[in-house]
Amino acid sequence: MLINETRHSYRHFMETEVSTELQRLSQLLQQSWKMVRTPRMKTVLKVQNVACDAMRDYLKSEDFIELLPPIIGPVTDPGIRGAKQVTFDYYGREYKVMSSAILYKQAAMSGLGKIFFMSPNIRLEPLDSTLTGRHLTEFVQLDLEIAEANYFDAMSVAEKLLCEAVNVVRDSCAKELEELGRRIPAISPPFKKLTYDEALEYLRRVGLKVRYGVEIPWYGEHLLSKLVGEPFFIIDYPRGARGFYDREDDNRPGILRDFDLIYPEGFGEAASGAEREFRYERVLARMRENGEDPRKYAWYLEMLREGIPPSAGFGIGVERLTRFLCGLDSVIEARLCPKVAGIHSP
Ligand code: ASP
Ligand code: MG
Repeated sequence: MLINETRHSYRHFMETEVSTELQRLSQLLQQSWKMVRTPRMKTVLKVQNVACDAMRDYLKSEDFIELLPPIIGPVTDPGIRGAKQVTFDYYGREYKVMSSAILYKQAAMSGLGKIFFMSPNIRLEPLDSTLTGRHLTEFVQLDLEIAEANYFDAMSVAEKLLCEAVNVVRDSCAKELEELGRRIPAISPPFKKLTYDEALEYLRRVGLKVRYGVEIPWYGEHLLSKLVGEPFFIIDYPRGARGFYDREDDNRPGILRDFDLIYPEGFGEAASGAEREFRYERVLARMRENGEDPRKYAWYLEMLREGIPPSAGFGIGVERLTRFLCGLDSVIEARLCPKVAGIHSP
């Protein structure tokens, strides 16, 4: 009886609520260019500008060099959680639009030490992401990499960077935050660190089962993000949950030296990052394990064979940061003419 009722209400939800929501969103986005004329969007974009400047200033004061982001290449980040890459013909060869500049971050770091891009990325997210409020198919991330660093170093930069953005926005956007009715919660480093195993256990205790060995689904992150009450890291994902470039711990086989940073208040994932696997043989083995064709990664593997320094880094999504800072329901309010899965909008 209960199952039938649940089934019925689920179907009802999918057929009515979801399709009504989708229709509403689709209609809104058909004329997305008009959104930018609203005072609300001007306010949101002002906050976004201030946050981006704050992060740039902070990183430059720490001797990071900002590079112009790569847009296309023969390969791009394969570790994108069920989203698809955009492939196109480039003078007779298959090329990709950056899903993330991870491979180029390692190249850049090997010459410059501490680098970052404001990197535009395309990920064709699955259709069930359209109404999450967290997924855009076109977005920008601040993507950084640090030579000779481990994942604790990278987490330390991530928490300081987030605190800097929050503090500067609080100081210089008081009027904007008031207009948006937003009180950003007080945050300070160091942030809590939960292992992947602890996160799964936590979710299990509140009734959500996640299969061990896979990425924590976004609704699990959402739940944790609501329950923990402050920003926190999930660290040490199992091998198999992430791309070949996240480094496996030599002393803990099967465990990756990587992390996600999660916002409080249900805003979910802020950043993903890791220490890098940079040893040629290991990367080759991991590519094979993940079903990647190493021949496609020829330039990258050649670079690794010649040798690059160890490094660590992360990427923090700008629209999601804006959503958190402004307390928005959806990232669609955080960029001009937003694109979401399945909707053909300008
Ligand atoms: N930039 C990567 C991503 O988009 C994260 C990383 O640097 O590890 O997932
Ligand atoms: Mg991520």
